[in-house]
This record gives sequence, structure tokens and C-alpha cells, in this order.
Amino acid sequence: MSEEKKIPYKIYLSEEEMPREWYNVRADMTKKPAPLLNPGTGKPMTAEELGAVFCKELVDQELDNDTAYIPIPDEIRDFYKMYRPSPLVRAYCLEEKLQTPARIYYKFEGNNTSGSHKLNSAIAQAYYAKKQGLKGVTTETGAGQWGTALSMACAYLGLDCRVYMVKVSYEQKPFRREVMRTYGASVTPSPSELTSVGRKILAEHPGTTGSLGCAISEAVEDAVSHEGYRYVLGSVLNQVLLHQSVIGLETKIALDKYGIKPDMIIGCAGGGSNLGGLISPFMGEKLRGEADYDIVAVEPASCPSLTRGRYAYDYCDTGKVCPLAKMYTLGSGFIPSPNHAGGLRYHGMSPVLSELYDQGLMRAVSVEQTSVFEAAELFARVEGILPAPESSHAIRAAIDEALRCKETGEEKTIVFGLTGTGYFDMVAYEKYNNGEMQDYIPTDEDLKPGFDSLPAIG
Ligand SMILES: *Cc1c(COP(=O)(O)O)cnc(C)c1O
Repeated sequence: MSEEKKIPYKIYLSEEEMPREWYNVRADMTKKPAPLLNPGTGKPMTAEELGAVFCKELVDQELDNDTAYIPIPDEIRDFYKMYRPSPLVRAYCLEEKLQTPARIYYKFEGNNTSGSHKLNSAIAQAYYAKKQGLKGVTTETGAGQWGTALSMACAYLGLDCRVYMVKVSYEQKPFRREVMRTYGASVTPSPSELTSVGRKILAEHPGTTGSLGCAISEAVEDAVSHEGYRYVLGSVLNQVLLHQSVIGLETKIALDKYGIKPDMIIGCAGGGSNLGGLISPFMGEKLRGEADYDIVAVEPASCPSLTRGRYAYDYCDTGKVCPLAKMYTLGSGFIPSPNHAGGLRYHGMSPVLSELYDQGLMRAVSVEQTSVFEAAELFARVEGILPAPESSHAIRAAIDEALRCKETGEEKTIVFGLTGTGYFDMVAYEKYNNGEMQDYIPTDEDLKPGFDSLPAIG
């Protein structure tokens, strides 16, 4: 035990120790993730086709299944230095509270104004847009974390940032909206009259409060119809997982410093970017046969794309303007029941994680909302950090495992990703505190319309 205590509460790295390259886990996969398909022709998207929507260098990253290490440009690394390296925290207080022999660590990504890991990819995507000489970028945001991160990155680089925000969030989360505007972004409630797809959806469903899939369609249309603009996306895509690998690389450097080998790595999974980034270097070792880890994705029981979804080609957006991706999905027609973890409500999952999951290299569990908030409160009270509801899914799973270890006496080392803070989610905490929060678990019947909406491809 005394030796144990030599591990500090927070393992910080110096700027020098920060990674200089991102790690591309696809390079070590024998069976690669399935390519994006052109919805018109059913053929893999070419770099040229993708270049109409995305920045050139990001297209190259998206399609690169072979280069293991991709240099992080100095400008991006300098921006990272404002809020990275992020600490790896030994959760001594949580261990004490749970009376578990397990050793728990978490990688905290909430230490920046946007409050989440999304800034790691936002700055990279904005940088490549700027380098290409573009005027600006468009995107969608649901709960607002991605839009906030992107607006910060664009402000830093002097790029125009146009955000389509799901209407219900625009109205219910005015603070997130105002943070984005403070960083100079223009924020439009979606569906809007600004795009033809928005006008069509409004005509068909007057009074609709919008959805992420619909906001994506609007943002893409805006980008392709304006000279000097491209679309950027905060999760799901291969390039986003690549940028987020900085999380896992730092985690590995910190653990290696103290000779710690994790048994289990846990992360919440919405589109899969934080989890994909956290596990990348560990998964690389696993793929190369150098080490083994129990890797766990945690998703809400209300939006269970890995645990109950199908592995199939699907539309990424409601308007069906985006390429098709092969992924674990509930179908683009799936409408998730209300859930306070807005960042985990997407119908599909990153093609990289989907493929790794399909190959049995990682597993997935689903957890219910009230149990997630119970874990969030316990964590906040002992560790001090007020976690985002999304992140709290990982906390729940880590606590469950630590309690299991208490039963068995196993001294497991658990690492989980704490993706962000929950200051903008106090309405959800209020519901929980008032005992008004409910669990929604879709029945097979509820999932059927989503599966029926899958295209007949692949
Ligand atoms: C967006 C978000 C997530 C989920 O997105 P992934 O792409 O699955 O990582 C998780 N936590 C926070 C705090 C988020 O903002």
C-alpha cells in the first residue's frame, strides 16, 4: 500500500512529453473498417467526391488506412498546450469510498472552456480548413459541446463558423448557444429556412423541434452551396478518432511512467470518438499481439447502437445527403427517447469501433439513465469534478467493476475516460435531484422503424 501511494493523485506530463504524432489504429487492423459509400452509385467515395464536402487534408486522413503515425502540426500542438496535456487522475477518494481493492484512474478531458474532449479534433479540423485557404466551416451541434469547441477553434484561427443547432437545444440550452456566439460563431436553429433540406423538413413536419440527423443535412448543404466553405463533423469519422488518439497516447505515456498496466479500459460511446481515441494505442498493442486489455464501450440503454443495433450500411443523416457508412446502427429513422446525455443520442457508431467490436476485440454494455446520475453524484461528491452526463456512463461502468472487484478481491487496474464537465446540464441534475428522472428502454417494437429505414446495401 505504501508503495502504491507513490503514484500521485494526478499524473501530469510536461509539454515536452506531449505526443508529436497522432496514432492511426487502422494501420494495425488486418481487416479494415468498411469504406464510405456514395449513396447514388453504391461505390466507395473517392477523395475527389469527399473533397467537395471536407477539407483536402482531412479527406486524406479519412481514407488513410495504412499510415500508423501522422505528425501533429506545430500550430495544433501549440494550441493543445493551452489545455493539454490533460491529467490522468488516480481516483483514490473514489476507491476509498467504494472500499474496493481495484485501482481506478481517469483521464480528464474537461479542462477547457468547451468542457469536453471535442476541442482536440475541432482545432485540427479548423487548422486544415485555414491551411487550405477556406473562409469558414459549417457544422451541426446537438447538446452544444461540439459547436462550442469548433467556435473556440475558429475564433483562434480567424475562420467563420456556422453552426446548425438542433432547435430543441437552441431553445432549451441558451447558455451553450451564447458561449458559441461569444466565440463569434453564427448559430441557427435547425430545421431552418436557410437550406432547401430545412425548408422541406419544415413543410413536412411543421413545428418539429429538429434532430441531429436533420442538422447534419443542413450543415452539409450550407457548405457545398457556398464557395470557400467545408463541412466538419465532431465524431464518428476516422479522422476524428485519429485526432482524439492524443487522449490515449497521453494516457499510455503517463501509465508507462509509473509502470502501470491497465486491465480494463472504459469509455462512453456516442459516435465513438473519445473512446476510439482513448483506446487507440492500447488496441494497437492488442492488434499486434503485444498485450491484452478488456476494452468496454458504455452506451445509454435508450440509444443502444452497439448492444442492440445491426452492423450494416446506413445513412449518417436524415436528409440522406451524406455518404453511407457501415456501422453498428439503430437506423437513421430511429428517434431516441428523451435522454439527458445529448452527446450519446446518435443512431450509429464509428466504423472503426464498429469493426473492432464486430471482430470481438472490445465489448459493450448499456446503462440506464438514473443509475448514471447516481454514479455522477457519487463521483462529484468524492472526486470533486461535476461530470457531464455522457462521461458519467463511463463512471457508472467503472464503479460497477470496482464493486465487483470488492466481491472477488481482485486488484484490477481500471482506466476510464472522463470526457467532460456537466455545468450546462444542471436541468438534468435538477430532474434527478427532484426524483423526476425516468429510464427509457426501447422495446424491440420501438427499434423496428429504425431498422426498417436501413438502406438495402452491403
Ligand atoms: C460528445 C460527447 C461525448 C460523446 O461523443 P463521442 O464521439 O462518442 O466521444 C461524450 N462526452 C462528452 C462530454 C461529449 O461532449
